[in-house]
Amino acid sequence: MADQAFVTLATNDSYAKGAMVLGKSLRAHKTSRKLVALIGPHVTEPARDVLQKIYDEVRLVDLLDSKDAAHLSLMKRPDLGVTFTKLHCWTLTHYSKCVFMDADTLVLSNVDELFNREELSAAPDPGWPDCFNSGVFVFRPSIETYGQLLQLCTESGSFDGGDQGVLNSFFSNWSTADITKHLPFIYNLSSIAIYSYLPAFKQYGSDAKVVHFLGKMKPWNYSYDATTKSVKGHSQDPSTLHPDYLLKWWHIYSGAVLPMMKEQYGSEHFY
Ligand code: UDP
Ligand code: MN
Repeated sequence: MADQAFVTLATNDSYAKGAMVLGKSLRAHKTSRKLVALIGPHVTEPARDVLQKIYDEVRLVDLLDSKDAAHLSLMKRPDLGVTFTKLHCWTLTHYSKCVFMDADTLVLSNVDELFNREELSAAPDPGWPDCFNSGVFVFRPSIETYGQLLQLCTESGSFDGGDQGVLNSFFSNWSTADITKHLPFIYNLSSIAIYSYLPAFKQYGSDAKVVHFLGKMKPWNYSYDATTKSVKGHSQDPSTLHPDYLLKWWHIYSGAVLPMMKEQYGSEHFY
Protein backbone atom coordinates (compact mmCIF):
# COMPACT_ATOMS: atom_id res chain seq x y z
CA MET A 1 0.00 0.00 0.00
CA ALA A 2 3.07 2.20 0.26
CA ASP A 3 2.98 2.36 -3.52
CA GLN A 4 -0.49 3.88 -3.62
CA ALA A 5 -1.31 7.54 -3.06
CA PHE A 6 -3.97 10.20 -3.01
CA VAL A 7 -2.84 13.08 -5.23
CA THR A 8 -4.03 16.66 -5.44
CA LEU A 9 -2.93 19.86 -7.14
CA ALA A 10 -2.59 23.51 -6.13
CA THR A 11 -1.08 26.12 -8.43
CA ASN A 12 -1.66 29.05 -6.06
CA ASP A 13 -2.21 29.80 -2.37
CA SER A 14 -6.00 29.77 -2.66
CA TYR A 15 -6.13 26.23 -3.97
CA ALA A 16 -3.37 25.39 -1.46
CA LYS A 17 -5.88 26.13 1.31
CA GLY A 18 -8.20 23.62 -0.30
CA ALA A 19 -5.39 21.08 -0.50
CA MET A 20 -4.63 21.58 3.20
CA VAL A 21 -8.23 20.91 4.20
CA LEU A 22 -8.47 17.91 1.85
CA GLY A 23 -5.24 16.46 3.28
CA LYS A 24 -6.44 17.01 6.85
CA SER A 25 -9.75 15.33 6.05
CA LEU A 26 -7.99 12.29 4.54
CA ARG A 27 -5.78 12.04 7.65
CA ALA A 28 -8.75 12.49 10.01
CA HIS A 29 -10.37 9.46 8.40
CA LYS A 30 -7.15 7.50 8.78
CA THR A 31 -6.17 6.72 5.23
CA SER A 32 -3.48 4.07 4.96
CA ARG A 33 -2.22 5.53 1.66
CA LYS A 34 0.42 8.18 0.96
CA LEU A 35 -0.64 11.80 0.35
CA VAL A 36 0.94 13.75 -2.51
CA ALA A 37 0.43 17.42 -3.36
CA LEU A 38 1.56 18.75 -6.72
CA ILE A 39 2.22 22.48 -6.45
CA GLY A 40 2.96 25.23 -8.94
CA PRO A 41 5.77 27.78 -8.56
CA HIS A 42 3.34 30.48 -7.36
CA VAL A 43 2.56 28.69 -4.12
CA THR A 44 4.33 30.72 -1.43
CA GLU A 45 6.84 29.39 1.08
CA PRO A 46 4.52 29.46 4.15
CA ALA A 47 1.86 27.54 2.26
CA ARG A 48 4.44 24.99 1.09
CA ASP A 49 5.62 24.51 4.68
CA VAL A 50 2.12 23.75 5.90
CA LEU A 51 1.43 21.41 2.97
CA GLN A 52 4.67 19.60 3.81
CA LYS A 53 3.41 18.91 7.32
CA ILE A 54 0.16 17.43 6.07
CA TYR A 55 1.36 15.60 2.94
CA ASP A 56 3.98 12.86 2.63
CA GLU A 57 5.25 14.39 -0.59
CA VAL A 58 4.98 17.93 -1.94
CA ARG A 59 6.23 18.05 -5.47
CA LEU A 60 6.92 21.25 -7.37
CA VAL A 61 5.68 21.07 -10.94
CA ASP A 62 7.21 23.90 -12.89
CA LEU A 63 6.36 23.27 -16.51
CA LEU A 64 8.09 26.46 -17.64
CA ASP A 65 11.30 25.17 -16.15
CA SER A 66 11.00 21.67 -17.46
CA LYS A 67 12.73 20.65 -20.63
CA ASP A 68 10.28 17.91 -21.44
CA ALA A 69 7.24 17.46 -23.65
CA ALA A 70 5.05 19.33 -21.18
CA HIS A 71 7.02 22.51 -21.74
CA LEU A 72 6.70 22.16 -25.49
CA SER A 73 2.97 21.52 -25.18
CA LEU A 74 2.59 24.55 -22.97
CA MET A 75 4.32 26.76 -25.54
CA LYS A 76 1.73 25.73 -28.11
CA ARG A 77 -1.26 25.87 -25.78
CA PRO A 78 -0.61 28.50 -23.08
CA ASP A 79 -4.34 28.50 -22.29
CA LEU A 80 -4.08 24.97 -20.91
CA GLY A 81 -1.44 25.62 -18.24
CA VAL A 82 -3.32 24.23 -15.25
CA THR A 83 -4.53 21.30 -17.35
CA PHE A 84 -0.99 20.31 -18.28
CA THR A 85 -0.02 20.61 -14.64
CA LYS A 86 -2.82 18.25 -13.59
CA LEU A 87 -1.86 15.69 -16.25
CA HIS A 88 1.54 15.64 -14.57
CA CYS A 89 0.05 13.27 -12.00
CA TRP A 90 0.66 10.46 -14.52
CA THR A 91 4.41 10.97 -14.02
CA LEU A 92 4.23 9.79 -10.39
CA THR A 93 5.53 6.38 -11.42
CA HIS A 94 6.95 5.56 -7.98
CA TYR A 95 3.30 4.75 -7.20
CA SER A 96 1.49 1.93 -8.95
CA LYS A 97 -2.00 3.31 -8.46
CA CYS A 98 -3.33 6.71 -7.39
CA VAL A 99 -6.56 8.53 -6.71
CA PHE A 100 -6.56 12.12 -7.91
CA MET A 101 -8.74 14.52 -5.93
CA ASP A 102 -9.37 18.16 -6.79
CA ALA A 103 -8.22 20.64 -4.15
CA ASP A 104 -11.87 21.69 -3.77
CA THR A 105 -12.95 18.27 -2.53
CA LEU A 106 -13.43 17.14 1.06
CA VAL A 107 -13.67 13.57 2.35
CA LEU A 108 -16.35 12.74 4.90
CA SER A 109 -15.23 9.17 5.60
CA ASN A 110 -12.42 6.76 4.75
CA VAL A 111 -12.38 6.19 0.98
CA ASP A 112 -9.39 3.83 0.69
CA GLU A 113 -11.64 1.29 -1.04
CA LEU A 114 -11.27 3.47 -4.16
CA PHE A 115 -7.94 1.72 -4.70
CA ASN A 116 -9.82 -1.48 -5.53
CA ARG A 117 -10.85 0.23 -8.78
CA GLU A 118 -8.93 0.40 -12.03
CA GLU A 119 -7.90 3.25 -14.36
CA LEU A 120 -9.88 5.18 -15.32
CA SER A 121 -12.59 5.12 -12.70
CA ALA A 122 -14.61 8.25 -11.99
CA ALA A 123 -18.13 9.39 -11.17
CA PRO A 124 -20.55 10.85 -13.74
CA ASP A 125 -20.53 14.60 -14.24
CA PRO A 126 -23.80 16.10 -12.97
CA GLY A 127 -24.04 18.38 -16.01
CA TRP A 128 -23.52 15.68 -18.65
CA PRO A 129 -23.58 12.19 -17.13
CA ASP A 130 -22.06 10.47 -20.20
CA CYS A 131 -18.90 12.36 -19.26
CA PHE A 132 -17.06 11.64 -16.04
CA ASN A 133 -16.21 14.39 -13.63
CA SER A 134 -12.44 14.77 -13.28
CA GLY A 135 -12.54 16.01 -9.68
CA VAL A 136 -12.04 12.45 -8.36
CA PHE A 137 -10.50 9.68 -10.44
CA VAL A 138 -8.47 6.48 -10.10
CA PHE A 139 -5.43 6.21 -12.38
CA ARG A 140 -2.18 4.36 -12.93
CA PRO A 141 0.90 6.56 -13.32
CA SER A 142 2.63 5.80 -16.61
CA ILE A 143 5.01 7.86 -18.72
CA GLU A 144 3.51 6.30 -21.81
CA THR A 145 -0.03 7.41 -20.89
CA TYR A 146 1.32 10.83 -19.88
CA GLY A 147 2.91 11.26 -23.33
CA GLN A 148 -0.28 10.22 -25.10
CA LEU A 149 -2.35 12.63 -23.00
CA LEU A 150 0.02 15.52 -23.74
CA GLN A 151 -0.08 14.71 -27.41
CA LEU A 152 -3.88 14.66 -27.53
CA CYS A 153 -3.98 17.87 -25.52
CA THR A 154 -1.51 19.67 -27.79
CA GLU A 155 -3.08 18.49 -31.03
CA SER A 156 -6.77 18.73 -30.21
CA GLY A 157 -6.93 21.04 -27.20
CA SER A 158 -9.71 20.56 -24.69
CA PHE A 159 -13.39 20.85 -25.56
CA ASP A 160 -14.11 22.51 -22.21
CA GLY A 161 -10.81 24.35 -21.84
CA GLY A 162 -9.71 22.19 -18.91
CA ASP A 163 -8.53 18.76 -17.88
CA GLN A 164 -12.00 17.22 -17.83
CA GLY A 165 -12.44 17.73 -21.57
CA VAL A 166 -9.06 16.21 -22.40
CA LEU A 167 -9.50 13.25 -20.07
CA ASN A 168 -12.98 12.48 -21.42
CA SER A 169 -11.67 12.60 -24.99
CA PHE A 170 -8.81 10.29 -24.05
CA PHE A 171 -10.80 7.79 -21.96
CA SER A 172 -13.65 8.09 -24.43
CA ASN A 173 -15.24 4.69 -23.84
CA TRP A 174 -15.69 5.35 -20.11
CA SER A 175 -19.47 5.67 -20.31
CA THR A 176 -20.05 2.37 -22.10
CA ALA A 177 -17.12 -0.01 -21.64
CA ASP A 178 -17.00 -1.12 -18.02
CA ILE A 179 -19.53 -0.34 -15.32
CA THR A 180 -16.97 -1.06 -12.56
CA LYS A 181 -15.21 2.12 -13.67
CA HIS A 182 -18.28 4.17 -12.79
CA LEU A 183 -17.76 5.40 -9.25
CA PRO A 184 -20.95 5.84 -7.24
CA PHE A 185 -22.00 9.47 -7.13
CA ILE A 186 -21.36 9.60 -3.35
CA TYR A 187 -17.62 9.69 -4.16
CA ASN A 188 -17.97 13.01 -5.94
CA LEU A 189 -21.07 14.77 -4.71
CA SER A 190 -21.52 18.36 -5.86
CA SER A 191 -23.92 21.02 -4.72
CA ILE A 192 -25.25 21.43 -8.24
CA ALA A 193 -26.60 17.89 -8.09
CA ILE A 194 -28.12 18.43 -4.67
CA TYR A 195 -30.28 21.23 -5.94
CA SER A 196 -31.11 19.72 -9.31
CA TYR A 197 -32.41 16.49 -7.72
CA LEU A 198 -33.24 17.28 -4.11
CA PRO A 199 -35.31 14.12 -3.40
CA ALA A 200 -32.32 11.95 -4.41
CA PHE A 201 -30.09 13.98 -2.12
CA LYS A 202 -32.56 13.49 0.72
CA GLN A 203 -32.63 9.74 0.04
CA TYR A 204 -28.90 9.10 -0.51
CA GLY A 205 -27.08 12.23 0.65
CA SER A 206 -26.31 10.88 4.11
CA ASP A 207 -24.10 8.23 2.44
CA ALA A 208 -21.88 10.90 0.84
CA LYS A 209 -18.17 10.15 1.16
CA VAL A 210 -16.63 12.96 -0.90
CA VAL A 211 -18.03 16.45 -1.40
CA HIS A 212 -16.85 18.47 -4.39
CA PHE A 213 -17.25 22.25 -4.27
CA LEU A 214 -17.20 22.60 -8.02
CA GLY A 215 -18.01 25.90 -9.72
CA LYS A 216 -16.85 29.45 -9.32
CA MET A 217 -17.40 29.98 -5.61
CA LYS A 218 -14.97 27.97 -3.52
CA PRO A 219 -15.12 27.53 0.27
CA TRP A 220 -12.10 29.79 0.76
CA ASN A 221 -13.93 32.66 -0.99
CA TYR A 222 -16.24 32.94 2.01
CA SER A 223 -15.32 34.25 5.41
CA TYR A 224 -15.88 32.53 8.69
CA ASP A 225 -16.81 33.78 12.13
CA ALA A 226 -14.87 31.58 14.54
CA THR A 227 -16.80 32.74 17.60
CA THR A 228 -20.27 31.92 16.25
CA LYS A 229 -18.88 29.11 14.08
CA SER A 230 -20.78 30.32 11.05
CA VAL A 231 -19.93 31.11 7.46
CA LYS A 232 -20.52 34.73 6.55
CA GLY A 233 -21.99 35.99 3.31
CA HIS A 234 -23.28 32.61 2.21
CA SER A 235 -25.23 33.42 -0.91
CA GLN A 236 -28.79 32.26 -1.38
CA ASP A 237 -28.02 31.21 -4.93
CA PRO A 238 -29.00 27.53 -4.86
CA SER A 239 -26.43 26.55 -7.47
CA THR A 240 -23.56 27.37 -5.13
CA LEU A 241 -22.44 25.66 -1.98
CA HIS A 242 -24.38 23.50 0.40
CA PRO A 243 -24.21 25.23 3.80
CA ASP A 244 -23.55 22.11 5.92
CA TYR A 245 -20.63 20.96 3.83
CA LEU A 246 -19.30 24.50 3.63
CA LEU A 247 -19.39 24.66 7.41
CA LYS A 248 -17.56 21.32 7.63
CA TRP A 249 -14.83 22.67 5.37
CA TRP A 250 -14.47 25.77 7.53
CA HIS A 251 -14.40 23.77 10.76
CA ILE A 252 -11.36 21.91 9.48
CA TYR A 253 -9.72 25.02 8.06
CA SER A 254 -10.27 27.06 11.20
CA GLY A 255 -9.71 24.23 13.70
CA ALA A 256 -6.83 22.31 12.15
CA VAL A 257 -5.15 24.35 9.41
CA LEU A 258 -5.10 27.89 10.84
CA PRO A 259 -3.45 26.77 14.10
CA MET A 260 -0.60 25.27 12.03
CA MET A 261 -0.17 28.58 10.24
CA LYS A 262 -0.22 30.54 13.46
CA GLU A 263 2.21 28.23 15.19
CA GLN A 264 4.68 28.81 12.43
CA TYR A 265 4.16 32.42 11.46
CA GLY A 266 2.38 34.16 14.29
CA SER A 267 -1.21 35.33 14.37
CA GLU A 268 -0.55 38.48 12.38
CA HIS A 269 0.22 36.44 9.30
CA PHE A 270 -2.01 36.79 6.25
CA TYR A 271 -3.63 33.41 6.76
N1 UDP B 1 -6.46 24.16 -9.91
C1 UDP B 1 -5.36 24.88 -9.44
N2 UDP B 1 -5.25 26.21 -9.75
C2 UDP B 1 -6.17 26.86 -10.48
C3 UDP B 1 -7.29 26.16 -10.95
C4 UDP B 1 -7.41 24.81 -10.64
O1 UDP B 1 -4.51 24.32 -8.75
O2 UDP B 1 -6.01 28.08 -10.71
C5 UDP B 1 -6.56 22.71 -9.64
C6 UDP B 1 -7.18 22.42 -8.28
O3 UDP B 1 -6.72 21.17 -7.80
C7 UDP B 1 -8.65 22.34 -8.67
C8 UDP B 1 -8.57 21.59 -9.99
O4 UDP B 1 -7.39 22.10 -10.60
O5 UDP B 1 -9.43 21.70 -7.69
C9 UDP B 1 -9.77 21.79 -10.91
O6 UDP B 1 -10.21 23.12 -10.91
P1 UDP B 1 -11.57 23.54 -10.18
O7 UDP B 1 -11.77 22.69 -8.98
O8 UDP B 1 -11.53 25.02 -9.95
O9 UDP B 1 -12.67 23.20 -11.27
P2 UDP B 1 -14.20 22.77 -11.00
O10 UDP B 1 -14.15 21.51 -10.17
O11 UDP B 1 -14.87 23.92 -10.30
O12 UDP B 1 -14.74 22.52 -12.37
MN1 MN C 1 -13.06 21.01 -8.53
